[in-house]
Amino acid sequence: MLNGVPVPPDRASAARTVAAVLAAGGRVALTTHVNADGDGVGSEVALWHLLADRGVTASIANPTPIPERFEFLVPNGADHSSRAAKEIEAADVVVVLDISDLGRLGDLQHAIKRSHPVACLDHHVSVGSLPEGPRLVTPEAAATAELVFDLASAVGWPLTPEAARALYVGILTDTGAFRFANTSPRVLRIAGALLERGVDPESIYQSVYASAPEGRVRLMAEVLQTLVVEPDVGLAWVTVPPDALRRHNATADDLDGIVEYPRSIAGVRLALLFRTIAHGRVKVSFRSVGDVNVAELSHRFGGGGHTRAAGASFEGPLAEVQETVLAAAREYLRGR
Ligand code: 5GP
Ligand code: MN
Repeated sequence: MLNGVPVPPDRASAARTVAAVLAAGGRVALTTHVNADGDGVGSEVALWHLLADRGVTASIANPTPIPERFEFLVPNGADHSSRAAKEIEAADVVVVLDISDLGRLGDLQHAIKRSHPVACLDHHVSVGSLPEGPRLVTPEAAATAELVFDLASAVGWPLTPEAARALYVGILTDTGAFRFANTSPRVLRIAGALLERGVDPESIYQSVYASAPEGRVRLMAEVLQTLVVEPDVGLAWVTVPPDALRRHNATADDLDGIVEYPRSIAGVRLALLFRTIAHGRVKVSFRSVGDVNVAELSHRFGGGGHTRAAGASFEGPLAEVQETVLAAAREYLRGR
């Protein structure tokens, strides 16, 4: 337990299988799901540092650009997402972080070949669909960053302050700043160990949550105007007007956290956020309280996620998707 928190034996042995393919000296490409979040970026940046410290050159190759709010974490020259498919094709090993579904890699799913091992570190409940490779996957982990921490601990890789900072961002964002149900005693111990490595929580808070472009706040104001609440079933939802991102010069990342507002209403057990995405599709974010299992609900629509935070995407148009999803949500809530 190099980093101060013991690693369960099953995780430690899984970690060793991942480390074995990474230490082999080949070209490593690191990737995560479309619209990377703090856990996806934090996990891959931390692993990039851990590998660099061991003389292994890694390259970050994501299906969509790294959101501006996480750019402060990314070392110069590490991110090659603008030519991600080429990076993945040329790699000897690919590490997929924070997702086990090939489909969530967007266009990059076609670049992943059966010829190279695809290692995966993930904490989603969804059954994976990646090609063969070593796995450190457990839904009990609060964040994928917790598993990168475990990997380093299990194989004795020291954490530099840079790697610790990236892991802290992953844990901070995936626990909703230590508020959600996944805030375990263990992940708080890990956060403590990261602070002991020199992480400055106030400056990280500032970068992640308090450096917003004005458009993010104006976008939020507009989306919150669309709130609908059905108190009899405990359902609430908001909808992003189709051209709102463009008008506010915002990106999908700027919507992060808005669905917490409908969820925060007393008596609401299921909150939804609807928005149109590329190719005429509609994305739905599901958030729940207590025993409402949104992983189950989103699986019905081909999506996935965690028990209290999940998502799915649909063929449009928006009004039809809303009708379908709201009907399923009401029926689900009436049943429990
Ligand atoms: P969000 O609503 O913040 O985009 O995502 C919430 C959770 O659901 C995340 O863990 C995310 O990975 C997962 N998720 C979101 N959209 C999809 C989707 O279309 N398919 C799957 N399998 N998971 C999703
Ligand atoms: Mn995550």
